[in-house]
Amino acid sequence: MGTKRENVIFAGIEVQPPDEESYKSKVFLIACTADLQAKALVMNMKQHNGKCGCPKCKQPGTHIGHKQQWPYQVHDPKGPRRTHEETKAHAAAASDTGKDVCGIKNPSSWLTAVPHFDIVEGMAIDYMHGALLGVAKRMISYWFSETSTNKHKDWYCGNSKHEIDYMLENIKPPMEIHRRPRSITGHLQHWKASKFRAWLLYYSLPIMVHFLDPKYYEHYALFVMAQHILLQQSITEDDVDRAEQLLLQFVSQFESLYGVQEVVCNVHSLVHYADNVRELGPL
Ligand SMILES: [Zn+2]
Repeated sequence: MGTKRENVIFAGIEVQPPDEESYKSKVFLIACTADLQAKALVMNMKQHNGKCGCPKCKQPGTHIGHKQQWPYQVHDPKGPRRTHEETKAHAAAASDTGKDVCGIKNPSSWLTAVPHFDIVEGMAIDYMHGALLGVAKRMISYWFSETSTNKHKDWYCGNSKHEIDYMLENIKPPMEIHRRPRSITGHLQHWKASKFRAWLLYYSLPIMVHFLDPKYYEHYALFVMAQHILLQQSITEDDVDRAEQLLLQFVSQFESLYGVQEVVCNVHSLVHYADNVRELGPL
């Protein structure tokens, strides 16, 4: 049965458009994406808050308190990388022993049967949940959360929230942004990914330059610049290399500025964004 199905897939389908010559069409799955929780289920691996929970590399991470962190690995920040063949071998070994291997718990029920699909390179990084609803939102919460410990941090800008809201609500958005910005006070919990995108790419740098400590501002700018580069419709190899250097610098400094306990999977994943763009195209 499998052979017959594969023969159909590899032979392709004859397509006959009206008034044109027929041609053969073959369809392959090249990319699949999901948020981190769903990706762990689809890949049949540990969740992102567990040991070896990064779908792109085999760094085990460490567990402090209730969080899993990925301290920056200076000598090999992106590796050791997972590969398709090794992940299949890990899945087979885990299936035999009943114990996960490098976080892989079993063969993926859905994806290992798809011909030519690369389960590591083909799993696209989910920029919306990772960068917008992940890192960008996390940084706003550092700067504005009115918790007793946060209020004493150098990055805290909560005392300027009303001024920032005023500036934000009086911005005239660029043409590609269809909705006006909403204030952080009172509206942040209703911000959708598109609001975080506009904040990240257009509003945050010109506003926060007036309020955020320069050390934290320059660090945040690395993240914004890299996202601008990787979101271009067309991107050169030099651009990707530059974005990668910015993101590696951002993640390595994140640890010293905000604490190693804050380098969670969404932050660590930024070291893999450039490779994801090299393999599958711009974000
Ligand atoms: Zn990783």
